[in-house]
Amino acid sequence: MTCNTTWQEITKELTPRQNSLGTHDLTARVFKIKVQKLDALLTKDKIFGDTKYSMYSIEWQKRGLPHVHLLLWLMEKLRPTHIDEVISAEIPTPETDRMLYDTMTKNMINGPCGALNPSLPCMKKGKCTKMYSRVLLKDTQTKDKDYPLYSRRAPEDDGRTITQKPPDGIQ
Ligand SMILES: [Zn+2]
Repeated sequence: MTCNTTWQEITKELTPRQNSLGTHDLTARVFKIKVQKLDALLTKDKIFGDTKYSMYSIEWQKRGLPHVHLLLWLMEKLRPTHIDEVISAEIPTPETDRMLYDTMTKNMINGPCGALNPSLPCMKKGKCTKMYSRVLLKDTQTKDKDYPLYSRRAPEDDGRTITQKPPDGIQ
């Protein structure tokens, strides 16, 4: 999870002349509270079931916003057939969950990188270091000692696509 300076818990505390990018004390406090809430949601409210442990590390780069890497050990190991119940790498349906759709399309769509924009920060030696764009897959695939490849259906398999305007300065 990455801190978002447009969170209302941050913006409602700003004076009319303040900008959330210059209030690191405020963004750090709000972020820490949200991390603790997220951890409680996973371990106390058990949204993925009983947990053995959780641990997290908050990282903070020189000019970036704080972000957290959180590891969660579940009592019941997640089986390949259950992955799609807890993780989705697809664009949600706006008609059934508008808030999730808006959040995803605003914050979680990468690119375009690759040959279209070889100077983006994710690009090294002509390849995207984040492995975008990912292949379209009809079903989630698991491997023994590697990350799963999540279902990312093509339009012909009932998947969803969106067209976005590139960020400013990118053509
Ligand atoms: Zn990339």
